[in-house]
Amino acid sequence: MRQTPPGLLVLLDIDGTLVWRASRAHAQAVVSAIHEVHGELTLAPVEAAGFTDRRIVRAMLLQAGLTNAQVDQDMEWLLAIAARTYEETCPVDLSDTVLPGIPELLAELCRDPGLQLGLVTGNLESIAHRKLTAAGLSRPLLPWVGAYGSDAEDRNRLVPVAQERAAALHGMAGRWPSDQTVVVGDTPHDIACARAAGASVIAVTTGAYERDALTDADVIADSATEIAAALSQFAAA
Ligand SMILES: [Mg+2]
Repeated sequence: MRQTPPGLLVLLDIDGTLVWRASRAHAQAVVSAIHEVHGELTLAPVEAAGFTDRRIVRAMLLQAGLTNAQVDQDMEWLLAIAARTYEETCPVDLSDTVLPGIPELLAELCRDPGLQLGLVTGNLESIAHRKLTAAGLSRPLLPWVGAYGSDAEDRNRLVPVAQERAAALHGMAGRWPSDQTVVVGDTPHDIACARAAGASVIAVTTGAYERDALTDADVIADSATEIAAALSQFAAA
């Protein structure tokens, strides 16, 4: 079994990082799954950017008056319904939601033998894959490797899961080293999940947060070009 990783592991967030405003059907699938499982609750909007789907469902249900025990009892069933509903309702073409320069950036990065691309996202796994496929971004990200909102409710637990899967993909035991892992995301929660794992982080201003909220990142990037420049700095370090 090989012991050394082949370079940098780059873990990309999806919403606000690769695509923008691509989540209408996703949000509707979650809401309709909540109604299918729990009946006609009155739901108020909750903060979603940077949170896992599990955490968003819990926040909505707690706000509607359910207890944590009631939420837990039906969580897996509810998420399965949300994923199935999204399969049926995801727009065929989400290419107009892709952020500028992202297709070119992914094409360039996936050709780099010193770099492994992956995902760290709050989206459920099947929703993430479906959304990126509809956006036309699946090819440079195949074979899929990463961690998802289906793996844990707390985003801070996701990076080690992705590191383990990326290592396994390359026949390595254990996890991809954190000093060779970079998270790219658009919220303070992306920064926190990178820090929880001891990984580096590039925050992007293309999503839900302004630069002022992202100052704890190693680098703040305003564009795909700036992400590429920052990654080459990490790769050279
Ligand atoms: Mg995001």
